Amino acid sequence: MKIIITAGPTREYLDPVRFLSNPSTGKMGFALASEAVKRGHKVVLVAGPVTLKTPAKVNRVDVTSAREMLEAVKSEIIKAKVKTEGAKPKTVVLISTAAVADWRPAKCAKKKLKKGEISSILKLVRNPDILKTINRNRSTFGYQPLDLKLVGFAAETNNVLKEAKRKCREKGLSFIVANDVSEKGSGFGTDTNRVTLVFPNGLLKNFPLMTKRRVAIEILKELEK
Ligand code: C5P
Repeated sequence: MKIIITAGPTREYLDPVRFLSNPSTGKMGFALASEAVKRGHKVVLVAGPVTLKTPAKVNRVDVTSAREMLEAVKSEIIKAKVKTEGAKPKTVVLISTAAVADWRPAKCAKKKLKKGEISSILKLVRNPDILKTINRNRSTFGYQPLDLKLVGFAAETNNVLKEAKRKCREKGLSFIVANDVSEKGSGFGTDTNRVTLVFPNGLLKNFPLMTKRRVAIEILKELEK
């Protein structure tokens, strides 16, 4: 399978030296990339600004903003499309582990803003939802329909499963990986995670606290079925 993985945070600049972002380190996405390559998949890792080393044999595309991340993902899906012409539909999986910034400054100033200017001119606009956009445009990818599977992550602090189910349906996902980030050992920057796979029909698969590497293997096994 071709597996496209988004990882890390995005940065949304308001001037050359300031941005909106979040503390995502990219560990889950990088663990997925490294395990997927070991299992013989072709992996493209679309990474926001993170300090992790690229796993061996992984093709890495670096991006900064959410809009750049969306364009990189689209372009990787389109590349798979060209190769499927005349052949049987190829399975392409997009696993979205990135903590995409939901908002960006309406404008990015060319010069550093003065302290006093920021609050009066800072207007925010919504960023595109990458998974939703790809899901909506499924039919435009591929001369023959690609077998395009989408997998998301839902990091929540309350109503974890309810929120995960809603996001799974809204974003057209094969399943979503839900985790309670307020739990010890789960979430941003940790090496472990306790996750539940939530399927669109409401089916749940619970896992104990595991390393992110182990979580990655369980996700890949589910996709390989
Ligand atoms: O932020 P949210 O909880 O909606 O994230 C759920 C899933 O959607 C995650 O897999 C995340 O990577 C993805 N997402 C996205 N584009 C956004 C926001 C989130 O693809 N703008």
